[in-house]
Amino acid sequence: MKRDTITIIGAGLVGALLAALLAQRGFSVEVFERRPDPRKAGFIGGRSINLALAERGWHGLRLAGLQERIGAIAVMMRGRMVHHLDGHTEMLRYGRDDSEVIWSVSRGRLNMALIDAAEAAGARLHFNRPLHAVDWKTSALQFAIENTQTTHVARTIVGADGAGSALRDAMKSQIDLGERFAPLDHGYKELEIPPHHGTFAMEPNALHIWPRGNYMCIALPNSEGSFTVTLFLPNAGNPSFETILTSEDAQELFARDFADALPLIPELQKDFAINPTGMLGTLYLDRWHLHSRALLIGDAAHAIVPFHGQGMNCGFEDAVELAALMESDTDIESVFAEFERRRKPNADAIAEMALENYVEMRDSVADAHFLLMRGLERLLAARHPSRFVPRYWMVTFSRVPYSIALERGEIQSAILRELTDGKTAIEEIDFVRADALIEQRLTPFS
Ligand code: FAD
Repeated sequence: MKRDTITIIGAGLVGALLAALLAQRGFSVEVFERRPDPRKAGFIGGRSINLALAERGWHGLRLAGLQERIGAIAVMMRGRMVHHLDGHTEMLRYGRDDSEVIWSVSRGRLNMALIDAAEAAGARLHFNRPLHAVDWKTSALQFAIENTQTTHVARTIVGADGAGSALRDAMKSQIDLGERFAPLDHGYKELEIPPHHGTFAMEPNALHIWPRGNYMCIALPNSEGSFTVTLFLPNAGNPSFETILTSEDAQELFARDFADALPLIPELQKDFAINPTGMLGTLYLDRWHLHSRALLIGDAAHAIVPFHGQGMNCGFEDAVELAALMESDTDIESVFAEFERRRKPNADAIAEMALENYVEMRDSVADAHFLLMRGLERLLAARHPSRFVPRYWMVTFSRVPYSIALERGEIQSAILRELTDGKTAIEEIDFVRADALIEQRLTPFS
């Protein structure tokens, strides 16, 4: 493809990675970002403070030349450390060994590294430029800065401006994108466990979970020794963000339901009062592009709930796939259409799996039958490594398309359910039947 100028809206995680990958390939890249330059003004968050990085994300970072820089600040998480109500803890490993782990990384530091990489590759970044509107006839992007407006002419625009995308709004004036937002009836609040005597107050190499049925807390480690705690609660009911209103309510909730975490969060009351309650949901669009003019990627196209820790990982996969397609010899409209054709089934699949994972995290990880199924899953994976590959493994440690992970995962879940029905221990499982079901229903995995 002719190396035309590509204009990207948003220098968040996905926009900055895309800018780096396209600039590396010789495209002229202009990026317009609403916020000030985080390297000078400090990072202004808004979403989670840290994120879980998995193989799909690492792949994008390797292509951008950032593996070492991010490796130096990422904290390994070997599994889920479940904190039961009676205070005992239990580590459920994600994979077989330390090659099958996920990593906790600071959103701000990751974003700044990506911005550096984009600039080093030759992309031009413009900060304090919130896209306000697009005049499609003249190709003028309009930016509203305080009371003044500036414009920039752009033929080919990629919107990486997140779930509330302004480019998406502008596209909607030209085409029906089939937009639907399904709000989750749960929200979240971030809290902090500071370092204790200069080091981590709990096991650092784990994602901590306090599952409590309809609600939960999680905590991810930060490289300087703290943890970011996220309390997920329903928006209505009891307890919910309707009943836990004041700092005192939060203190009582923690004393009752998260008693081992409470002494580790000295600023609980202050943080609860000050930190905003975040909203969650899933964004579905039928179309992601407007002819050859504009394309949406990352959260702007498919924001999902955070319970599989895959939103950014999926967005990074978008950026990698789009950059590769841009190298083809076809016209830009065909590239946009092909990108949408390839990525949309995968975005839909991870959206579904992320919703399912919420129930697993807040409820099932504390359930005996669930633990039996997980134990059996491991045994079957070891017994049939070429056919039975756990869904979590496919999503997290591989780059197998999400749609295939969903499809094979459903077959595997049905097998696990059939084999464990009415059983309470691994010794009761009929492995001859298990072998037969796997041979019959699962093709060899390639
Ligand atoms: P954003 O990160 O939202 O970036 C959009 C950028 O566009 C921002 O820089 C913004 O300032 C800019 N922008 C917005 N509007 C305009 C405008 N009008 N003009 C110009 N610029 C604009 N994902 C994971 O993979 N792992 C996790 O563990 C994980 N945890 C999460 C926890 C929570 C609580 C939440 C809410 C999300 C989590 N995610 C996680 C999802 C992840 O945060 C998103 O998928 C990811 O941030 C998407 O990146 P993005 O670049 O598409 O959008």
